[in-house]
Formats: sequence, C-alpha cells, structure tokens
Amino acid sequence: MAAFETVIGLEVHLQLNTRTKMFCRCRNHFGDAPNTNVCPVCLGMPGSLPVINETAVRYARQAGLMLNCAVAQFSKFDRKNYFYPDLPKAYQISQYDLPLCGKGHIDVEMDGGTRRFGITRVHLEEDAGKLVHDGHGGGSLVDLNRSGTPLLEIVSEPDMRSPDEAHAYLVTLKQLMSYLDISDCNMEEGSLRCDANVSVRPAGQAAFGTKVEIKNMNSFKAVQKALAYEVRRQIAAIEAGQTIVQETRLFDANSEKTVSMRTKEQAHDYRYFPDPDLVPMTFTAAEIETLKAQLPERPAVRRERFAAQYGISAYDAGVLTAEKPLADYFEAAISAGMSGKAAANWIINNLMAELNAAHRSITDCPITPAHLAELGALIEGNVISGNIGKQIFPEMFNTGKAPEEIVNEKGLVQITDSAEIDAWVNEAIARNPDVIESLKAGKGKAAGKLVGAVMQMSKGKANPALVNERIRHILIETHGLDA
Ligand code: ADP
Ligand code: ZN
Ligand code: MG
Repeated sequence: MAAFETVIGLEVHLQLNTRTKMFCRCRNHFGDAPNTNVCPVCLGMPGSLPVINETAVRYARQAGLMLNCAVAQFSKFDRKNYFYPDLPKAYQISQYDLPLCGKGHIDVEMDGGTRRFGITRVHLEEDAGKLVHDGHGGGSLVDLNRSGTPLLEIVSEPDMRSPDEAHAYLVTLKQLMSYLDISDCNMEEGSLRCDANVSVRPAGQAAFGTKVEIKNMNSFKAVQKALAYEVRRQIAAIEAGQTIVQETRLFDANSEKTVSMRTKEQAHDYRYFPDPDLVPMTFTAAEIETLKAQLPERPAVRRERFAAQYGISAYDAGVLTAEKPLADYFEAAISAGMSGKAAANWIINNLMAELNAAHRSITDCPITPAHLAELGALIEGNVISGNIGKQIFPEMFNTGKAPEEIVNEKGLVQITDSAEIDAWVNEAIARNPDVIESLKAGKGKAAGKLVGAVMQMSKGKANPALVNERIRHILIETHGLDA
C-alpha cells in the first residue's frame, strides 16, 4: 500500500464588527427583528448607490498586516454574479483580481516547534441575506438584515499537511484576529466560517491531487473531523481504483461524514467584472507604515515579553495572553502597583475560576484591576493574611466592593499584636500537652499542630509569620526547647 500525503488549504470568512454595513448606513447587528436593518442599497433597489465603509477597509488592512501580507496600494471591488433568493441584486460585491491584501504568512506553534503557513490573500466582500426555512407552513422566508454586512475572506495556501495542522492554524488565526477586535470570531455563532479544501497524493509526488471542498462545519473540532474523514475517504477511493472528482461536500456532524453537494460541472460562472459604482481604493506606502506601527503587540511576542519582564512561567504567560482583554487586565493590575507574580497567581488561580463559574468574560469582570492590586497590597502590607484574601475574594467578585471595605466591614484586619498572639500560643500548648512530649522526643514537625491551633483560635486573623516566631520563642524561653 502506497503512503499518501494530505494537502489542505482553508478559506475563512470573518463577519466584521463594524457599526454599519459594508456599503450603506444600516446597522450591522445580529438578532434584530427580520428586515428591520435594511435600505434601498442593501435591498438591491435599482438606482441606489453603494458607499464604501472606511472602517471595514481599515480592518481588512489591519488583518492583512497581522498576517504579514503585502497590503495593496491599489485595490478595487468587483461584482460576482449569481442568482439566489438571499441576494437581491443578483450579484455580490467582492474582490477578484486586486484584493486589499496579497501574500503573507502565519506562524503556528505546534508540537514544540513552529510551522509557517502561507496566506494567499485577504479581501473584503459583502454577506448575503438569510433564508428561514422552518416553521412557516412549508415556505421559505427571506431576512435581509445580514445582506450587505462586511465579510473578510482569508485564503490560505495549500500548505497544511494534516487535520491537526489545519486545527492549529485556525486557533492561531482566531487569536490574531481577536487581538485586533475586528470580529467576534465565533464559529458556533457563525461570525467565523471555514471552508476546508483537501486532497491527497502519493508520498513523493510533486503535483497536487484533485481537491474537494468541505462546508458546513460549526467548530474547529468539526473542521478537524471533517478533514480526517475526507482524507480516509479519498485514500480508500484511490486504493479501490477510483478517481477523485472535484466537488463540494457537506459535513454532517451526526454521522461525522461528508456527503456530495455539487460537482465541478454544476459550478457557477460568476462573470466577475469591476463594480462601476465604486471608486478604486488607493493607499500610500506611508499610510501602510502608519497602520503597521499601530498594530497591537502579537500574542506570541506579548507572551514572551510577559515571561521575561514579569518573571512568570512561560505557561502562565501563555494563559494570560490567550486573549487580549485578559492580557490587558493583567497589565492594568501591574500598573496599579501589583507584582507580576501576584497578579498572575490571583488571575489564573482565582479570578478565572470565578469568571468561569459565573459564565462571565474578563471584559465584564466585577473585580477591577485596581481592586485586585489593592488586595495584593493588603496582603503584602500584612493587613490581612493570604488566606483571608482568598476568603474575601468571592465577595469582591459578587459585590464589586473594594477589598478594604470588606475587610473593615467584617473586622478581618490581621492581628500583629504579639501579646495577643502569645496568649493564644500558651493556650494552644496547654491544650496540646502531647506536642511538648513529641518535641522533646525530637519530632520537630509537631509544632505545626500549635500553628494550626492558634490560627483557629484567631479565626485566621493572626499573622502566620508572627505566630511561628512567637511559638519558637515561647518553646525556647518557657519550655527549654530549641525547636
Ligand atoms: P478555487 O478556484 O476552487 O476557489 P483556489 O485555487 O482558489 O480554488 O483555492 C481555494 C482553496 O483551496 C485555497 O485555500 C487553496 O489553498 C486550496 N487548494 C487549492 N488546491 C488545493 C489542493 N490540490 N488540495 C488542497 N487544497 C487546495
Ligand atoms: Zn442598507
Ligand atoms: Mg478561489
């Protein structure tokens, strides 16, 4: 049996989160009543004229720069002609031969190394409306709220060699685009969509095999599964002496299989031509440089900086830079005076757990970075113990109150009065006579029982360092032990 090599290229569509649509002033918003965000332009009325959304164009160029693409100085929109009931103009405004961004690449970390995948192009287009098929007595209804909303298409080179690489590519791409805050990038909700192209060829063969395009996946895992199934299907077909036909197939999430949707013979001829209603877009080299200089720090770069600058582990730095708002929160806590290590520990060990449990995101976190830093300062300054800090943390989260306010309300200020602590130590020794016996017998660890007893008597408020110190002192001075 000959060994086969897998070849994969991905086409990703991102819904851009601009306030208005691509060529008109209608609201670009999901979830409104059907056909409420529409006007003559996005309804495709004859004689209406489109106007380019400048923000969408900037987003596309930023995305291109983030993907190391060559940003075009001259670009235009073209009409892609086809008929479908969700497309009132009978053409989609897209880009054909002069996209906003040309070749680039994306560096993907996997299995401890880095893989570089080529980007073919990044272009802008408009989305179509939506057909609603169910619940209307058999007929289909058309909702044109989505008609004319901005879509960014990112096309990769056929550079991936396994479904795992395709998955890793998508994760990295999503992270990079999320850092720009130009899209929700949510595949389950449809703001990120992915068509996967895949072929196989005998190992060592230079020419690519015939590709198949797969659609209808609603998660990165589904893309991975669809590709894995398709690779198995193609290899089995070739080994059975069949030829692969170029076609589009649909992934069925239940059976985890792909089924044929249309073949090349049924493919459209789109009769692309330049849109005469839209002026070409020009961009100077200086403008490109300015936009480049304003890009956010890339997640991988930020991760390495966090580890080096704040002395935290590479793993923690990775967790903190997974999403830009989380990384921003971390640095805001540091700006408010917290040490990097303390901020990392509190965020990763405590804050993220609270956020998960409450199904909230960091962008609507009830604990402000300033409050987190204040909590750190209370512990650093020995006003409260670390344990009391952990105790009040859920209340900080649930109420949004400043830690100092909670500490004062509950009388949780740490006890650092040695006379008060000495009294508890003496009582702990009196209540636990076995400890002295054990210590005399050389079992040094027995003193831990005294620490526990004192902390319990003080309801956790005694300063632990001072408790240890006073226990030592009293054991030596009063009981003649050199513990
Ligand atoms: P089409 O003309 O069918 O749109 P393109 O050449 O534009 O095809 O490529 C579309 C996508 O398919 C790209 O992401 C590209 O990397 C990928 N692709 C092209 N050829 C192959 C192939 N033989 N195997 C796998 N993927 C491919
Ligand atoms: Zn409109
Ligand atoms: Mg193509």
